[in-house]
Amino acid sequence: MTMQKVILKQGKEKSVLQRHPWVFSGAIATVDADDGAMVPLCSYDGTVIAWGYYNSRTQIAMRLLTFSDRKPDDDLIARRLMNAYALRVASGVVNSTNAFRMVHSEGDMLPGLIADWYNGHCVVQFLTSGMDRLKETIVQIIQEKLQPLSIYERSEHEGRKMEGLPSIYAQLYGQTPDFIAINEHGMEFLVDVIKGQKTGFYCDQRDNRVLIQSIAKGKNVLNLFAYSGGFSIAALMGGATKAVSVDSSGYALSIAQKNCELNNVAKRHVGVKADVFEYINTNDIPQNVIICDPPALIKSRSSIQQGLRGYKELNVKIFKKAPPLSFVLTCSCSRFVDMKLFQKIVFSAAHDANREVTITGRYLQPADHPVSIYCPETEYLKAIMVFIS
Ligand code: SAH
Repeated sequence: MTMQKVILKQGKEKSVLQRHPWVFSGAIATVDADDGAMVPLCSYDGTVIAWGYYNSRTQIAMRLLTFSDRKPDDDLIARRLMNAYALRVASGVVNSTNAFRMVHSEGDMLPGLIADWYNGHCVVQFLTSGMDRLKETIVQIIQEKLQPLSIYERSEHEGRKMEGLPSIYAQLYGQTPDFIAINEHGMEFLVDVIKGQKTGFYCDQRDNRVLIQSIAKGKNVLNLFAYSGGFSIAALMGGATKAVSVDSSGYALSIAQKNCELNNVAKRHVGVKADVFEYINTNDIPQNVIICDPPALIKSRSSIQQGLRGYKELNVKIFKKAPPLSFVLTCSCSRFVDMKLFQKIVFSAAHDANREVTITGRYLQPADHPVSIYCPETEYLKAIMVFIS
């Protein structure tokens, strides 16, 4: 049996030589590989230049793990997992929280794998068929080397359908509790890894929660797209007089309420179940600290224009209604918008709202969501803090 492989079209190896982990289907000349198989990638002359896994169903036809003729084996996967964990320790992330992203897919050179750590419990997500095939190996390594209390698989993502994979919710090891209590910068949060969103908690906004806490004293706070109340609780614990959390999910708001009670700030908190777009149309904004953290409004290349309009519309409304001398932390978690483009949207919103707006800070995702220098697409979270006078 000849070895399976993928051969690039002539002249298409540049991005691979630059270590970009994605190979688009249009760059491929010939394929002899099953979906999900780990195969060598050859330049047109037949030289092996990288190894990765293949899928015929997706536009990104290969995701690469090595950029030489070295076949990725279990040792390599184990080393990458342990390096990922070492980064969370060395960067100090683990000193301020027991909830963090332990593996960030391409950002940790493990494309298609997400692993979150919640106070000793591990939640894994396999986004691609290639990574799905490595499940047993990965779970075994995590179990042996990191000794979690439990491992839960929450493989549910729109990308999985395109990969030809079903959604999977499964207990892989131990028993994950219904609610995991985590501590982030002295705040307690409950994480529901099964019924919550994503893997249960948005660790990526950790640093921005601290930022909001640092300016919150004596302020009145509006938390738009609040989920389980992270920003509201940070603000209230920082001395905010009141926080209103708006979210369309009643279940998310019920966890937000529990979280407020856990932190003894429930008396100053109000949850509002509403569509934020409607809420800001029909309500005044008396608050002088406003957080706007919508879900990704752009999910694919084809919806960029529509999504950009969504971001702008939101920000115009907020900027128009925000009282003088207020702060707005406005965020985008779409990977199709970079900081430069996001700032342009914020600029045009400020201009349309006819307000005096200055930028006081720009923030990216924290160190447990590392950005691969070779794959700038791994940078997805942008936040701009503006002051409106
Ligand atoms: N800021 C949060 C994370 C926000 S995730 C944190 O730090 O934890 C985005 C949230 O927006 C989700 O809770 C989702 O339920 C909510 N959402 C999505 N579309 C919405 C809409 N149109 N109106 C209100 N909430 C919405």
